[in-house]
Amino acid sequence: MYYPEPIAKLIESFSKLPGIGQKTATRLAFYTIGMDDQSVNEFAKNLLSAKRDLHFCSICGNLTETDPCGICSDPTRDKSIILVVEEPKDVLAMEKIREYRGLYHVLHGTISPMNGISPDEINVKSLITRLMDSTVSEIIIATNATSDGEATAMYLARMIKPAGIKVTRLARGLAVGSDIEYADEVTLSKAVENRLEL
Ligand SMILES: [Zn+2]
Repeated sequence: MYYPEPIAKLIESFSKLPGIGQKTATRLAFYTIGMDDQSVNEFAKNLLSAKRDLHFCSICGNLTETDPCGICSDPTRDKSIILVVEEPKDVLAMEKIREYRGLYHVLHGTISPMNGISPDEINVKSLITRLMDSTVSEIIIATNATSDGEATAMYLARMIKPAGIKVTRLARGLAVGSDIEYADEVTLSKAVENRLEL
């Protein structure tokens, strides 16, 4: 079907988003042109700002407007514990339960023997650098309960334990194959409380 170019381009942009097929992209594009000018301007502004004003924290790798991020620079956080997660959205999930008061480290992925992703391709090196600071006494590995998440946890435990730092993993109760971000708050809270030493 033929659409004027501006619409065709908008459909193309929407269809590049995850989980959006051609049909949904077309629906969203037509919805967008039906919106009033102010809403469209705001939408466009938010898109640009999210990309332009957010950076990765140079210490923990979390998404932030300031560097270091609010968590790394918060003097009330417990600097002796670092909780390691796969993605920035996992930090949000953990912060929601409001029980954890330590610091974070975001890996931006997992090691994946199946897909040929090596430790060098995720944010591991800066974690090792952080451990040289002797204030760290425990690393909690909160990678997802998937085979890649497990492989990553095992790798990190092997790397970190010789340095005499306690390495723990979130307790089971998280369903196998499940993502941290979708766990309910009680499950996540329990998983932290009952973490196991690796
Ligand atoms: Zn940070």
